[in-house]
Amino acid sequence: MTAMNEHQAVKIIPLGGLGEIGLNMLALECEGKILLIDCGLMFPEDFMLGVDIVIPDFTYLAGRSNDIVALLLTHAHEDHIGAVPYLLRHHKPVVVGSKITLAFLEYELAHSRVSGNGNGGGNGHANGNGNGFADVRMETVAAGDKRDYGPFTVEFIQVSHSIHGGFALAIRTPQGLIIHSGDFKLDFTPFDGEMTDMNRFAQFGDQGVLCMLSDSTNVEREGYTISERDIALELENIFHDCPGRIIVTLFASNLQRIQQIFDISSRFSRKIVLNGRSVVESIRIGRQLGVLKIDDDLLGDLNDLEKLDPSRIVILCTGSQGEPMSVLTRIAENNHKHIEIEAGDTVILSSKIIPGNERAVTNIINELYRKGADVVYETISKIHTSGHAYQEELKVLLRLCKPKHFIPIHGEYRQLVQHAKLAKKMGVASKNIHVLESGDSIIAVDGALRAGDRVPSGRVYVDGHGIGDVGNIVLTDRRLLSEDGTITCALAHRDGMIVSGPHFKSKGVVYEPEYAELIDEAKNLVLETMQTLRTDNAFSEEDAKQEIARAVRRLFAKRIGRRPIVIPVIMEV
Ligand SMILES: [Zn+2]
Ligand SMILES: [Zn+2]
Repeated sequence: MTAMNEHQAVKIIPLGGLGEIGLNMLALECEGKILLIDCGLMFPEDFMLGVDIVIPDFTYLAGRSNDIVALLLTHAHEDHIGAVPYLLRHHKPVVVGSKITLAFLEYELAHSRVSGNGNGGGNGHANGNGNGFADVRMETVAAGDKRDYGPFTVEFIQVSHSIHGGFALAIRTPQGLIIHSGDFKLDFTPFDGEMTDMNRFAQFGDQGVLCMLSDSTNVEREGYTISERDIALELENIFHDCPGRIIVTLFASNLQRIQQIFDISSRFSRKIVLNGRSVVESIRIGRQLGVLKIDDDLLGDLNDLEKLDPSRIVILCTGSQGEPMSVLTRIAENNHKHIEIEAGDTVILSSKIIPGNERAVTNIINELYRKGADVVYETISKIHTSGHAYQEELKVLLRLCKPKHFIPIHGEYRQLVQHAKLAKKMGVASKNIHVLESGDSIIAVDGALRAGDRVPSGRVYVDGHGIGDVGNIVLTDRRLLSEDGTITCALAHRDGMIVSGPHFKSKGVVYEPEYAELIDEAKNLVLETMQTLRTDNAFSEEDAKQEIARAVRRLFAKRIGRRPIVIPVIMEV
């Protein structure tokens, strides 16, 4: 190949979201320019104790601010925009998305726990918030728009998803056309008319697609997703049978579902009372942008709840995931100022229970039943549908686009593998199917794709104001602390000779009186350890701390099968 071709090679770099759930972020690089697609977060898993959120590792972009031609956002879900505030601290590319995506992003920036540091470019449209993100340039695009960003020409394609304003991307590069599906499904009867533009995909397919990257979330599910229309029918049936108040929780960003709830409530002459910040904010944004059509008369006031006939009330609130401070949790715990469950109430959880939240949510369901409410949730009723294409829908997209190369994205490793198998079944040549993980780059040149180098990627933990200062060692410590507790061993010495102690204090390890024997044994062990260290000529406190910690830990492991964190406090007097 010629040097010219190599210069125009396109490097595809998944920085997150492949082989994991969340952290969706992709970079395309050509002629020294970088186009970024999405910048999402991951909610911490159980083992990441105390971590608030997880963001992608941006190391690859270090020192490249001026090369980044744009950040494209496919839609406003947290796994696609949640890490944008963290990226914007270091880089200030123009941020491109639909008007609803950018409205949600502005809200995200305004409420971010971090602030932009204010350096970098920014002479375009300012978004007007006051925490250091004012110079962020935003560019609103609509489906069908075509824009140039460096060597890339991007067309935005409308897709149906569980949030408004979602796009797939058709990216024209010097090496050919790359299709990025975004998060999508093929709902033929969506509630809001935002249908996946299959025509456009077919046209691109006819022009020839070099490579397609497609959403793997539901590849394991056969058939088609249930249509939002069917959900509406099911909700209507439930409303029909409810004698008393109806309490609904859902994902606040799912404006289609919110519109359904309002429409059905109106038909049943029920007023809607909103409660919980994300629900209130999301509806404000939706109405402001004209996406939600809601009559003011339909809205009730929390303070009027007691005056209203229960059969005329719907309460729309936060808490579909059992979040500790959410409205539904407080209601279930009898901890809400205005709302107390009464017999005849029906609670509808119109959303998926995200893996990891099952325990919290089922606890709430149990509590609600106990207090006399009827509860309707996903496992027993068709009141939720996924925003991600099932197998048959994924096949349709593959058939329409007929890509030469295929890269499954947005899924755990097993889902990527399943999607690869599906692509093979649909006629993509095995050698042209590339199962990558975050950090595996691949290079397109002369119509072929070859493996590139590994680039830095991974998970950065955000804990309070700390970004990246909590690593795996700290997490291991926290896990040990939470499972096996701590033991403090304090002593005073003069030249290595103990003059006071050792005194033991334990937290979460053993109930001391019961284990007095064990503590005695530990004391003797420390005395012995100090003795040994003192006879070796150069006594050092550092050595003593290490040896004591090791010896005590080993003792506890042997006697009671636990490995507490041992904190030696050694003082010279
Ligand atoms: Zn999504
Ligand atoms: Zn997603």
